[in-house]
Amino acid sequence: MTDKVVVITGGSRGIGRATALAAAARGYRVVVGYATNQAAANEVVAAIETKNGKAIAVKCDVGSEQDILALFKAADAFGTLGALVNNAGIVGKSGVRVDEMSAERIQQMMAVNVTGSILCAREAVKRMSTRHGGQGGVIVNLSSVAAKLGAPNTYVDYAASKGAIDSFTVGLGYEVAGEGIRVAGIRPGLIDTDIHAAGGEPDRAHRLAHMVPMKRVGTADEIANAIVWLISDEASYVTSAILDVSGGR
Ligand code: NAP
Repeated sequence: MTDKVVVITGGSRGIGRATALAAAARGYRVVVGYATNQAAANEVVAAIETKNGKAIAVKCDVGSEQDILALFKAADAFGTLGALVNNAGIVGKSGVRVDEMSAERIQQMMAVNVTGSILCAREAVKRMSTRHGGQGGVIVNLSSVAAKLGAPNTYVDYAASKGAIDSFTVGLGYEVAGEGIRVAGIRPGLIDTDIHAAGGEPDRAHRLAHMVPMKRVGTADEIANAIVWLISDEASYVTSAILDVSGGR
């Protein structure tokens, strides 16, 4: 497995970046997807190559089917696909109630977080399923504890998108369990990344840390460690399962 290709959407920053570095350290060939920040993606590739790992950066806005097809085409040229990490995700502005939400915002949320993940999974299944002549593989979907908590008065559209990811993880796992593919989800809690700034509240994770049973925010590395375990053969009997990595939140 470890000489195989791992595609990570949104691998340029945050949890995706940490996962790219952790996967490369275990010997995987890493495809670092990014939406716009080419410099950040190139930095991840350079950090991997410095340690004699193998990685390429590929621009892929998961809101675009064309970009997704190009991402997997680039992955095909790089080696045999062994895993997909559906990590790319967005939040809208925090603190917007549903009665204030534009259709555009909700559609963008679903296009990136839900449709993008399902389309990437489609491309991965076509390549990894034994039904299509593949050698099997693993798909890890990034959900959020927001799927359970609902994120009221914060961003219920985001929470709903992650609820969809949970259902998709369970259903797809059953669908392809007999075809050599495992599917698992991770629900991170409050993790110290740029996503909170993207929601207009850079300090959000730290402000809410006191509500976490472990009384602290999590790090991107703590999520990455769970992801690389799930894609490894050590998790060989895990499918249609969702793991909370949230300090108890
Ligand atoms: P982040 O720090 O904001 O990084 C986002 C990454 O996704 C970047 O690499 C970015 O690429 C990429 N991206 C953004 N929009 C994209 C698009 N349309 N298409 C493709 N890539 C896109 O986010 P993060 O905190 O690491 O979150 C990663 C995942 O974990 C997300 O699914 C998020 O919902 C989930 N999560 C995070 C937390 C948390 O507290 N941080 C908690 C629960 C769940 P560029 O660099 O090109 O912009």
